[in-house]
Amino acid sequence: MPELPEVETVRRGLRSVMEGYVIERVEQRRDDLRFPLPPRFSSDLAGQSVIALTRRAKYLLAHLDNTNVLIMHLGMSGRFAVTHDGATQTPGRFHTQVPLAHEHIVFHMSGGARIGYFDPRRFGAMDIVAGIEIAKHRLLAKLGPEPLGTTFSAAYLNQTLGQKRTSIKSALLDQRIVAGLGNIYVCEALFRARIDPHREAASLTGRQRPGRALTRLVGAVQGVLHEAIEAGGSSLRDHAATDGTLGYFQHSFAVYDREASPCPRFECTGTIARSVQSGRSTYWCGACQR
Ligand SMILES: [Zn+2]
Repeated sequence: MPELPEVETVRRGLRSVMEGYVIERVEQRRDDLRFPLPPRFSSDLAGQSVIALTRRAKYLLAHLDNTNVLIMHLGMSGRFAVTHDGATQTPGRFHTQVPLAHEHIVFHMSGGARIGYFDPRRFGAMDIVAGIEIAKHRLLAKLGPEPLGTTFSAAYLNQTLGQKRTSIKSALLDQRIVAGLGNIYVCEALFRARIDPHREAASLTGRQRPGRALTRLVGAVQGVLHEAIEAGGSSLRDHAATDGTLGYFQHSFAVYDREASPCPRFECTGTIARSVQSGRSTYWCGACQR
C-alpha cells in the first residue's frame, strides 16, 4: 500500500503533466472504484484547467479553475501511468509491484499527456467537491495534522497521547492523530527514535511538557519521510531511462521486513524481531528500543 512518501512522489510525477494544463477529455470505463464516481464525473472535468496539484495525507487534490477539487486516492493498489511523447512512466514507489492492468480512468491533457489510472483491487477512490467544502469532505474531515507540517510537534503529541492506552505504534497509525503514516514508516521511525512499538502511548508523555522520547519521535518521523520522499524523487528522475519497475528499496529499511537480521544500529548486538499488532507486522529491535 502506498504511504505518504509514495503519494508525494506520485504527485511530483503528475504535477509536470497536469498543472497548468486542461483536462481535454476523460475516458471513464466504470461507474465506481471503492465508491461510486460522481454522476457527471467525466463531463464535469472536461475542459477544466488544473491550477495546482496538492496533497493532503495520502489524497491527491487537483484544484480546477472552476474552484472544484478532484480528490484522488490510490487505495491499496492504485497507480497512474503517464504516456507522453511515446514513453510511459509510472510515478511512485511501491513495495509490491502490481501489473499495469485494469485501467479504469484516462485523463487526456492539453499538453499531450495521457494519464491512465489503474486499480486492480479497486480500493482507490475519486470524487469531485467544491473547493470551499474540501475540509469537510467525508474522506478528509477527520484527518489529523500532516506529519511534515508545523502542527505535528512533541508538544502536540504530548497533549494528544496523554490518555492513550493503546500502543505507540497503533497511535501513530491512527489517521486522526497524524495523517498519512502507514506500517512501514511507523516501524522505521520508532526504530530511529529507539522506542518499543508495543509501549503504551501515554507512557511517553510528561505532565508538563514532552519528554525526550517524543522529541526524538517527531524528528524520526519527519526524517524517515523526508528521506523516502528524496529517494522517491531520485527514482522519478532515474525512471525515464529505465523499464518502469519501481519499488521501495528494501535495503534502505533499517527494520521493516528484516526479521532475524542483525540490528543495524552501531554497537547494538540485538536482532530484529517481528510481532503482530492489530493484524499488521511490527519489526523492531528489543535490545535498543525501549
Ligand atoms: Zn538494536
